[in-house]
Amino acid sequence: MVELDAPLAPLTTLRLGGPARRLVTATTDDEVVAAVREADAAGEPLLVLGGGSNLVIGDAGFPGTVLRIATEGFALDGTVLELAAGEVWADAVTRTVEHGLAGIEFLAGIPGSAGATPVQNVGAYGQDVAQSITEVVAYDRRDDRVVTLSNAECAFSYRHSRFKADPDRYVVLRVRFALEDNAGLSTPVRYAETARHLGVEQGEPVKLADAHGAVLRLRSGKGMVLDPADHDTWSAGSFFTNPVLSAEQYAAFLALTAGRELTAPAYPAPDGCTKTSAAWLIDRAGFGKGYGSGPATLSTKHTLALTNRGAATAEDLLALAREIRDGVRAAFGVELVNEPVMVGVTL
Ligand SMILES: Cc1cc2nc3c(=O)[nH]c(=O)nc-3n(C[C@H](O)[C@H](O)[C@H](O)COP(=O)(O)OP(=O)(O)OC[C@H]3O[C@@H](n4cnc5c(N)ncnc54)[C@H](O)[C@@H]3O)c2cc1C
Repeated sequence: MVELDAPLAPLTTLRLGGPARRLVTATTDDEVVAAVREADAAGEPLLVLGGGSNLVIGDAGFPGTVLRIATEGFALDGTVLELAAGEVWADAVTRTVEHGLAGIEFLAGIPGSAGATPVQNVGAYGQDVAQSITEVVAYDRRDDRVVTLSNAECAFSYRHSRFKADPDRYVVLRVRFALEDNAGLSTPVRYAETARHLGVEQGEPVKLADAHGAVLRLRSGKGMVLDPADHDTWSAGSFFTNPVLSAEQYAAFLALTAGRELTAPAYPAPDGCTKTSAAWLIDRAGFGKGYGSGPATLSTKHTLALTNRGAATAEDLLALAREIRDGVRAAFGVELVNEPVMVGVTL
């Protein structure tokens, strides 16, 4: 299906941004590949759209083809799961839990499509998709062919992947996962908050349904499960990634915070780095929950979510994001990086 001058705001969870010159909705892999080939042959800019839950689209809209992936397919063979890119991620997670399989149960309630999950290595509550993805089937625009990439070839890292690093090359068609049959139990509870909520020690498994339910409850309490009636969920989820500081940056940061008797959360990260909490930095820099008085404010439930209160433009949201980024830099010398993908705008 092709529509011209199509509004994009209703297709995003932030509900902002201008129209697409052309919006193509593809319901089969062949339609996806054909639409990409057609746009590429015409030299037309292309934006691949899943659930629109990780996008900030500028008010001018998109001057090219927006390809909306609406393919369907949930295929389970033993513990091997294959999802079509257009499958609704949260529904697929629920179905794996109902089948008694572990591996993605802590990723419950995350909006968007299955095909987007490898792009930023979607993660929450101690799990990310890199832990269970075995293969990603994608259309390679550079070589004009469908390829199957192994987990290692996806180059996953914290909220990052080969697909994010090279955004104009691959369109994800299918994602394959190796799940676990743990006799109805989850993978070990890795996250302190979930363990507390479930009344278990970190590292213990729990019943799959309990893990799934706990995550949904925790997420709802933070406005992180979509609810059209609740403006706190008109967001792109966490707007900033948790900063990963080099040993040198972390030492400088510690010196600064020690002077103020502040103790920031700190988690070991690869290559001797330390990951700290963007939410903590934002809050301590003076931007508490609900900060802002305009049409875009922080969520009243979560400092990391920038929200549209109903009538915000992309520029309103970006002005708030810049204020927060600059405030954190001034207070802590740490540069916050946006998690959502920016379309036609920069932070
Ligand atoms: C309330 C809320 C809570 C959230 N919580 C989390 C969380 O806990 N953890 C987390 O990691 N994320 C979270 N997110 C962010 C978001 O849900 C995920 O990043 C999700 O995977 C995005 O999926 P999507 O289909 O909506 O992608 P879109 O927003 O449509 O697209 C995002 C990017 O992926 C690209 N893309 C989409 N589909 C494909 C494809 N098939 N092939 C190639 N590229 C593609 C797009 O071009 C774009 O660059 C949250 C968002 C919201 C609104």
